Amino acid sequence: MTELMAGVEHTPLALLMLGRQSDGNSERGVDCPGELPPASDPSLVERARTAKAALGDQVFVLGHHYQRDEVIEFADVTGDSFRLAQQAAARPDAPYLIFCGVHFMAESADILTGPGQHVVLPDLAAGCSMADMASFEQVEDCWEQLGSVGLDAVTVPVSYMNSSAAIKGFTGRHGGTICTSSNAKRALEWAFSKGEKVLFLPDQHLGRNTAVRELGLSLDDCVVWNPRLPLGGNTAEALAAATMILWKGHCSVHGRFTKESVDDVRARVPGVQVLVHPECQYEVVEAADLVGSTERIITLVEESPAGTAWAIGTELNLVRRLAEAHPDKSIVFLEKTVCFCSTMNRIDLPHLVWALEELVAGRIPNQITVEPETALHARRALDQMLALP
Ligand code: SF4
Repeated sequence: MTELMAGVEHTPLALLMLGRQSDGNSERGVDCPGELPPASDPSLVERARTAKAALGDQVFVLGHHYQRDEVIEFADVTGDSFRLAQQAAARPDAPYLIFCGVHFMAESADILTGPGQHVVLPDLAAGCSMADMASFEQVEDCWEQLGSVGLDAVTVPVSYMNSSAAIKGFTGRHGGTICTSSNAKRALEWAFSKGEKVLFLPDQHLGRNTAVRELGLSLDDCVVWNPRLPLGGNTAEALAAATMILWKGHCSVHGRFTKESVDDVRARVPGVQVLVHPECQYEVVEAADLVGSTERIITLVEESPAGTAWAIGTELNLVRRLAEAHPDKSIVFLEKTVCFCSTMNRIDLPHLVWALEELVAGRIPNQITVEPETALHARRALDQMLALP
């Protein structure tokens, strides 16, 4: 550790609504002690460069594909949640990892990095609405209820990477695995080799799309678990007959694409290929030409010949960057309405500058830490994913 970093203090975490004020009754957020630079400050780019240069290899900046351009410009690596988790784990020498993504990703980075490393989320308001749709208490309650009808022993939990550390910990404690949108099929095959049923958390669409489209199950093999209703809104008989128990969660970005938008773009753009993320609804995925994870979407577009036309159903920042990077192809956003991920967009250049300058000043802002017991079980579920055949 350099002199620069000697004697670092932890910036106390606090809450606010939007921007810089504190409101203890609001949703999870962050107050930025000290001065948060205004978004219109023309010196921000220079300040980010200067602070990053001062930190040198003490800091490693990870940028999710859905982040703003102004943030991606300072990322040492870009990727989807899985790739970024791998990248965080592959940087044992960096004491500070600034995670430009959302809360669950920073938690995964903390679980996968060493004790001397600190993961910083520039704005604690950058959560994920999908991850928040499955609370630990609700999932524990679900498991108890499955036990009350004799189904816990034959059910294996499979949790999407887009879940809180607490849900990953639950998954590890009950012998399950984490999955991503790239390896969900393998995760389900593994789970069905261990048990008769899968409890899939928290994205019902990824679970259904994978089970029905890739494993050959029928829609009738799937039931949805609504955590607000007894037995998730199902009868004991329906649960006993089901193969997939899908948590009632969805992505507030990908869940917005509709079958109508697919029909509409086909009518508007001759020869268009519709490419969507598997977090989209079943009927959207069925109507599309191709389905793929964020990384797969990028690869498919990059490898396609000039002159091809694409309508892409994923987060708008990424679609816009793809369109700019490939002027020889026609790339349009699948939905007419704007569809940024509002929580991803909470990380902006002022927050990144603030985080970098706090580190330069010897303070660790917004450090994300996962409680050790949860981390232990979550790590087991993550390791199981990495060991999938
Ligand atoms: S795009 Fe969807 S899954 Fe990803 S962070 Fe935003 S709400 Fe969560």
